[in-house]
Amino acid sequence: MFVDLRSDTVTRPSAAMRAAMANAEVGDDVYGDDPTVNALQAEAVRLSGKQAALFLPSGTQANLVALLSHCQRGEEYIVGQQAHNYKYEAGGAAVLGSIQPQPIEADADGTLPLAAVAAAIKPDDIHFARTRLLSLENTISGKVLPLAYLKQAWEFSRQRQLALHIDGARIFNAAVALNVPLQEIVQYCDTFTLCLSKGLGAPVGSLLCGSSEFIQRAIRWRKMTGGGLRQAGILAAAGLYALENNVERLREDHNNATWLEQQLRDIGLEIVEPGAQTNVLYLRQPAEQAAKLGPWMRERGVLLSSGPLTRLITHIDVSRQDLQQVVNLWREFLQQQR
Ligand SMILES: *Cc1c(COP(=O)(O)O)cnc(C)c1O
Repeated sequence: MFVDLRSDTVTRPSAAMRAAMANAEVGDDVYGDDPTVNALQAEAVRLSGKQAALFLPSGTQANLVALLSHCQRGEEYIVGQQAHNYKYEAGGAAVLGSIQPQPIEADADGTLPLAAVAAAIKPDDIHFARTRLLSLENTISGKVLPLAYLKQAWEFSRQRQLALHIDGARIFNAAVALNVPLQEIVQYCDTFTLCLSKGLGAPVGSLLCGSSEFIQRAIRWRKMTGGGLRQAGILAAAGLYALENNVERLREDHNNATWLEQQLRDIGLEIVEPGAQTNVLYLRQPAEQAAKLGPWMRERGVLLSSGPLTRLITHIDVSRQDLQQVVNLWREFLQQQR
């Protein structure tokens, strides 16, 4: 087994999670008949305080369906330059929805400055796409958006008649880092997505939450984009297990990231923006060294996306002992380079 620090998407379902999947009661979810999918969606409603929730195969599809449900053809959403649902989703909203992204630069803390958002909103004029939506990401690059900022963004969005969406692939990491229930964060948005298949440890699946009316529209877009699944309870059971068992333990991943950061600093590595808030670390290394490190670590059972800027992510399948091993190897590697 590799120690895999490339992402928290690499987590594998535990024996208990697999048992929950194997024993799941199922039905046809396109008919709304799958009791386990319905239970998962009900749990997301309970945890979020939103009216309705929808299970989707991936986070990318959940964001796409959200954008399609918020914006019509010829409308636009304001989003960060580095946001997943702008940069890393193959331009889906533009390609499939004729929705124009209006990217803006985020501040260092991951927030989109509201003055810049205001400046990007288009007047009602035939020359312009209609600005409909503000899309935030939380956590972004492992950073937690402050609650005070979310409140401001929410009030701003009400004043400017924009909908507010949060790409919350790792929103439970934010909730755990802030020590608040999920509701406390998502009270400041109309809709949000969350990934079950990252730190929560499920093999597949995301949730989109919002008003009943919104989710009703989203169900049609999910069907149209090929995300209507049949006996999906097998998958939803893993998600339900994750929500019941794997949320609070995200704290371990955060503690591990903090510990790893300190250890790597002690052996002389350059940490980018030290002070990991959640489960993500970045470090800088010389390009030549980075090119050697990846294969060297792989031969020794450690997977890294080694580059001049290297991202390390801690998760449920990486123990403190595994990380100690990574630090020992890294030290050895650096000694060989001298
Ligand atoms: C992982 C991720 C997604 C969606 O990912 P999928 O691989 O499609 O499930 C969306 N947004 C962010 C911020 C992510 O990290």
